Amino acid sequence: MVILDGSQGEGGGQILRTALALSLVTGRPFRIEKIRARRANPGLRRQHLTAVRAAAEVGAAALEGAEIGSKTLCFTPSGVRPGEYHFAVGTAGSATLVLQTVLPPLLLAPGPSVLRIEGGTHNMQAPPFDFLEKAFLPLLNRMGPRVTARLVRYGFYPAGGGEISVSIEPGTLRPIELVERGRVVRRVIRAVVSRLPRHIAQREAETIRRHLAWPAETVAVEEVDSVGPGNVVLAELVSEHVTEVFAGFGQRGVSAEKVGAGVAREVRRYLEAGVPVGEHLADQLLVPLALARGGTFRTLAPSSHTQTNLETLRKFLDVDVRMEDLGQDIWQVTIAGEPEH
Ligand code: ATP
Repeated sequence: MVILDGSQGEGGGQILRTALALSLVTGRPFRIEKIRARRANPGLRRQHLTAVRAAAEVGAAALEGAEIGSKTLCFTPSGVRPGEYHFAVGTAGSATLVLQTVLPPLLLAPGPSVLRIEGGTHNMQAPPFDFLEKAFLPLLNRMGPRVTARLVRYGFYPAGGGEISVSIEPGTLRPIELVERGRVVRRVIRAVVSRLPRHIAQREAETIRRHLAWPAETVAVEEVDSVGPGNVVLAELVSEHVTEVFAGFGQRGVSAEKVGAGVAREVRRYLEAGVPVGEHLADQLLVPLALARGGTFRTLAPSSHTQTNLETLRKFLDVDVRMEDLGQDIWQVTIAGEPEH
């Protein structure tokens, strides 16, 4: 039984999600205490509980402590079953974070799977659908499996009502090397609103464009239909060897200009460092690379999220991870290990 302290490092939901995913992959049960102890609303929230139940369904797992507000959970899997699944967060909790939990075991499962996940598709502090589709999944597919995702309906906080559909063809995960970004070949700023004035999206996109001095034709503004109001602005950078997507979310009391400026700052940092992998992609690549028992990428200075994810990963997998500071906000992450048999 792996024992985890949920207050360690960042002390958020990522420790739980990574543990669920790796418990399913390795078949090793775990017990986690002090779940999300460093968050303002500690314990299991609906979104985390959906991830726990989804993992339990996929892995025919026995659960103890799977309730809203619970700070301790025991998870004992008994074998991954690929197939058709439908998970619903029931609130605007992130659908992509539920996917993050069950994708690793289904990538390595003995057959294909199709998932329908209802919830938020564009949430703060979660991978927006566009990041999943354009940045993360293409890299995963380069490693061997074949995963495609479709946005069925937009879902924003707080109303939710979104849906994604994901099809997974498993395959052996092969290491990848991602040290060069190459030339930037396409830049797109896409600002989206649902049931909110169009000018919010226009102002966000225009702020990003001005801060980065990109041409007018890089901007696209879109009005979409969702059950509730919502807004996201996405800056997409397609380079020769990788695509990155940076996101900003409209919030009550925060001006569109401020949201846009935040995204522009992230894009500028990424462009100046010249690395292929941005902050969020870095923490999300750790699990697939560790499962491939190899890989190298260059990224920005690792976030505390990345550090915490790494600590959790080491509890389940015998991998060697090196993080080297190459200076000027450039880090090289190298993962090596012997495959499990
Ligand atoms: P909580 O305890 O509230 O559940 P958490 O510990 O789950 O928080 P977050 O920091 O909220 O963690 O991040 C969750 C995941 O979402 C991480 O994998 C992170 O990389 C990803 N993520 C967050 N923001 C973005 C973004 N703008 N683009 C892509 N991925 C993102």
